[in-house]
Amino acid sequence: MFKILKSIKNIFVHIRSSLKVVLMIVIPTIIIIGIISFFYKPTYSVTLNGEFIGYTDDKNKIQKEVNDYMKGIETENIAFIDIETLPEYSLCFVKRQNIDNSDEILAKIKGIGTTYYNYYAILLKDETKYYVSTKEDAEAIIDKLKEKDSNNIKDIAYTEIYNTEQQTFAAQDEVVNALYEKKPTPVYYNSYSYTIASAKVDLGIDLIKPIASGYTITSRFGQRSSGNHGGLDIAAPAGTPIHAAAAGTVVASGWSNVGYGNHIIISHANGVQTLYGHCSALYVSVGQYVEQGEVIGAVGTTGNSSGNHLHLEIRVNGARLNPQYYLY
Ligand SMILES: [Zn+2]
Repeated sequence: MFKILKSIKNIFVHIRSSLKVVLMIVIPTIIIIGIISFFYKPTYSVTLNGEFIGYTDDKNKIQKEVNDYMKGIETENIAFIDIETLPEYSLCFVKRQNIDNSDEILAKIKGIGTTYYNYYAILLKDETKYYVSTKEDAEAIIDKLKEKDSNNIKDIAYTEIYNTEQQTFAAQDEVVNALYEKKPTPVYYNSYSYTIASAKVDLGIDLIKPIASGYTITSRFGQRSSGNHGGLDIAAPAGTPIHAAAAGTVVASGWSNVGYGNHIIISHANGVQTLYGHCSALYVSVGQYVEQGEVIGAVGTTGNSSGNHLHLEIRVNGARLNPQYYLY
């Protein structure tokens, strides 16, 4: 019995001495950690391009904000922001009063970013006229100009842009109103017979043959027993392409009430016009600009005509001239 009590006592003595040792190690450690923690705090030191830019407690928050910033989430029309070098983080202990300048760190990181914007340019004849913010805006502008039958609709387009330059955006209606072009009023001649210009005049422009040589000339200018003939008739199979004799603007393209049938009139420089009569098809519309040689219609026998042929007229300030002064 006594032996047992003695050994229990021994255990207690042993525990007490162990406790002493533990307390001698643990307590100072806790105190030291406490002192260190009171003055110092684990934090991240942030460097950018090797240069120290500050301390942060919340590395994740900074990384998320930098990622959002690079995705352009904060501002409309930013495609992305390129930051060539990302910041580096390293764990360290700093004095408590030094900690956390996350805002300054973010400002410094953003300061080295290159912003790429994304928006749309409205083009007229491939030349940028306006910028709009969204694809929907760009498409709505084209649709509205189509609806209004704007004369220049073929020349209007849009293109998507990515670059570092921000632009001022125009409103849809502002662009539509500025770009809209009224179709010119068609010029119709109310006489099939002609007033003759007696002599060749210098047109000041070069003409090319609207249809190839080799076809029969079936009626010459001014040489008819049954009334005057204001143009030159060239027989050709139906559908033969008719080319514009010179560049110019189409001033008539449609049905004539005075015998030309489906006809086209093009206004060139110097008051010169060319007329193409009896067409089977018309490929151009009033107001359209055509290049020399562009196919504008096809040979036919519409209107006052007894067979497939091109009736070609050349007019200067309203007076008709013999086409054979210049062609065929
Ligand atoms: Zn004729």
